[in-house]
Amino acid sequence: MSEDRFQRLLSLQDHDTRIDQLRHRHDTLAERAVLAASQDACRQLGDRQEARRTELRELQRNLKRNEDELAALEDRTKREYDRLYSGEITGTRELLTLQEEVDGLRSRCSDMESDALELMEAIEGIESEVGTLGASLAEANAEVVSAQQQLTEAEATVQAEIGQQTAARSTEAAGIPEDALADYEGLRARMGGVAVARLRNGTCEGCHLALSAMELDRIRQAPADKLCHCEECGRILVRA
Ligand SMILES: [Zn+2]
Repeated sequence: MSEDRFQRLLSLQDHDTRIDQLRHRHDTLAERAVLAASQDACRQLGDRQEARRTELRELQRNLKRNEDELAALEDRTKREYDRLYSGEITGTRELLTLQEEVDGLRSRCSDMESDALELMEAIEGIESEVGTLGASLAEANAEVVSAQQQLTEAEATVQAEIGQQTAARSTEAAGIPEDALADYEGLRARMGGVAVARLRNGTCEGCHLALSAMELDRIRQAPADKLCHCEECGRILVRA
């Protein structure tokens, strides 16, 4: 393996390191967190709006029931009132009892009218809240769309760079013998992505440990095309 090929290994390592960094950047893009946050805000607003709508339906059912009962009560009041003044009843005690009943019915009608008013006010309040939440939701949805666009753009930028690095890497890999490449790939998988290290001033730049004098001597005397490995970390050493 020529010295040029050692340089190729180093260059391959640089591209692979860069690709690893770019993939990490791709996965941790700030735009991704912004999108997740805006989707979360949207979901929360949607949940709140749905809860309000459920409340609204409940109140509307109560109002309908109230109105039906009130209508029945008003009918009954009218019938009793008509009976009171129909002249059919003549007994004073009976008339008084009926009058009291009509008064009681009227009082109940009046209470139910008050209840209906309260319900209508509550309904109006919640309807207005549902409307406000709807406007907020529309804004939040627009933010999600915008965040999604920004993420797509940011991803495309990183992916384009990954594409360039991958192409450059392939060119370098083509100039490296098969067995050295296999050695490199195996080491990369085992050594956290860094398979090649420079040997500088007797120190492996992969693990930053100084090699023994004996080991240095062995490497120095090895043929120029032999792949040497760091005795500490096992990485391929490129003599600088
Ligand atoms: Zn080492």
